[in-house]
Amino acid sequence: MATLAEPSLAFTRLPHPSLVPADVRDAALTDPGFGKLFSDHMVSIDWSEGADGIGAWHNATVGPLTAIPLHPAAAVLHYAQEIFEGLKAYRLQDGTMALFRPEANAARFNASAKRLAMPSLPEDLFVEACRQLVAVDRSWFPDVQGGSLYLRPFMIATEAFLGVRPAKQYKFMIIASPAGNYFKSGAPAVSIWVSQYTRAAPGGTGAAKCGGNYAASLVPQAEALERGHDQVVFLDAAEHKWIEELGGMNLYFVFEDGTLLTPPLNGTILPGITRNSLLTLAREEGLTVREEPYSIDQWRADAASGKLLETFACGTAAVVTAVGKVTDPVTGEFTIGTGGPGQLTQRLKARLVAIQRGEAEDTHGWVMRLS
Ligand SMILES: *Cc1c(COP(=O)(O)O)cnc(C)c1O
Repeated sequence: MATLAEPSLAFTRLPHPSLVPADVRDAALTDPGFGKLFSDHMVSIDWSEGADGIGAWHNATVGPLTAIPLHPAAAVLHYAQEIFEGLKAYRLQDGTMALFRPEANAARFNASAKRLAMPSLPEDLFVEACRQLVAVDRSWFPDVQGGSLYLRPFMIATEAFLGVRPAKQYKFMIIASPAGNYFKSGAPAVSIWVSQYTRAAPGGTGAAKCGGNYAASLVPQAEALERGHDQVVFLDAAEHKWIEELGGMNLYFVFEDGTLLTPPLNGTILPGITRNSLLTLAREEGLTVREEPYSIDQWRADAASGKLLETFACGTAAVVTAVGKVTDPVTGEFTIGTGGPGQLTQRLKARLVAIQRGEAEDTHGWVMRLS
């Protein structure tokens, strides 16, 4: 079991004058959806650079969820200095709240911060901030099938300054949003659209979890939806040939010889924690997992020959989602396997979810119990 370290900064608890009434909250929690409901509290920690050029984190609070004042010249509004994370708090069978590999999110947050020229946040402080928020808002956990309390840590540049350089003031925050199943039930496998747009180029910010990447993916995603598909898949920027990932999920391919393949972490795709966890679980099952480039042409050929049995996407929000159909604007459509979720897709998903929810033994120390 993962354990909590002593945090390097103490949090001040601000009083909440008007909690959402319990009956209103509980009614909303019966159908939480994704990302539309928010809990009562938020975490906030400030960073600023002193005259000596040395920066520090201070003013750590857990208080009422409220709008934040931002100067119109705040750097985030002009040059998009923003990064975020996404992780879920679960309720285990014995009622304990738990997080899944939060140190991995903390480490990735700092990797993103580095790429965006932002200060790093001590990992223990990141995890403690998550713990504090779950502790005050655990009544916002939705007791629905597949439910979780989704945590959204993020950092923005708050300094009012229009010159182009890294800001000298930042705000780290966490908000919590009760979530049901990410994909509405009745969608067993998704249909994806091969985008002519690219998400990330070599040397760019593809490996950082930053809002800017998402801003650039909205038009391609909207195009996919307009054409009747669920998600967009991006190919590499240099050759428009190699499969990278979906807008917010990594991809896995399952072959008839029992091997799995996932595109390598070459700087243009996001290093997913779900991707990494599945890599471990699959290898533990004795499967061979290759981290290798895979081309769109090979994907189509292998699907047609039957060599490729399954394709699935993975990420914290939806965990594992089968890909049933792929449409390329130039070469047309192809179906993977039966067009529905394959066996390995379902088995790996079940194993991961069971570990996350404390229903299977946590042999890797991935589950952090919070109380
Ligand atoms: C967050 C994210 C993922 C999935 O990462 P997880 O850690 O598994 O949630 C994949 N791709 C992109 C672009 C992302 O932003």
